[in-house]
Amino acid sequence: MSELGWLTQPAVFAWVALAFGLCVGSFLNVVIHRLPRMMERGWREECAEIAGTPLPEQGRYNLFVPRSACPSCGRGIRAIENVPVLSWLALRGKCAGCGTRISMRYPAVELLAGLGTGWAAWHFGLGLAFAGAALFLWCAIALAFIDQATGYLPDDITLPLMWAGLLLNLGGTYVSLGEAVTGAAAGYLSLWSIYWAFKLATGKEGMGYGDFKMHAAVGAFVGWKMLPLVILVSAGVGLLFGVAQMVAARGGWDGNFRFHFGPYIAIAGVVALFWGAPILRWYLPGA
Ligand SMILES: [Zn+2]
Repeated sequence: MSELGWLTQPAVFAWVALAFGLCVGSFLNVVIHRLPRMMERGWREECAEIAGTPLPEQGRYNLFVPRSACPSCGRGIRAIENVPVLSWLALRGKCAGCGTRISMRYPAVELLAGLGTGWAAWHFGLGLAFAGAALFLWCAIALAFIDQATGYLPDDITLPLMWAGLLLNLGGTYVSLGEAVTGAAAGYLSLWSIYWAFKLATGKEGMGYGDFKMHAAVGAFVGWKMLPLVILVSAGVGLLFGVAQMVAARGGWDGNFRFHFGPYIAIAGVVALFWGAPILRWYLPGA
């Protein structure tokens, strides 16, 4: 520990974590862009296999292959153009090859991951609670942006995140193991029941199974006592954004509006993990 002593200085640790978080954000951008495409590719291959009409051989496509390139002109992105946030600013949000706009999403994800990780370091200090909170933040960011763009909440993220929450709470990092296990089950079942009540009442599907799994992961981290807060915050923030979107679109409710719940579960999960305990003491005195 002695040679890492400087890291235990809270301010130093927070800055190191911020820089590291920016780089993780850069990787999250790859995950957000590629994971849905990898899933769709996998489904197509499975369908073709079942139908007995194999697809023509395609190049490898995963999180690491091929190298990142501009989707418009195919220009490979050099290391110097891949520095979080700064590259986007230096390029003024345009591809250096063809001048096509690069989405604001890229620097936004990097900034969120960087500031979030820095904040987690400041809030929890060096230790397991910080590592778990950083992991939770990164997964929450990836899930929120993937859901917003595609409507998917990949099992490849939600399920490992739930296991991570349970394992972290083996030693009671955030809550007792009992609260975590109950939290995961209750997290899943609460949204599952809302889904079925809504479906039986209206014949429509308001959510997807990915939402239940993501909520289970949140429950595994923060425990069952926090779930009313998570549902309340996610519904409140969702309502706010939903109304804002409807006002902006001036279209009103068209009946086919697909509500993406993932981003709001992500926000509520982060609120519960970071500030849940004081809020809980306020609405459940004696808990
Ligand atoms: Zn380009």
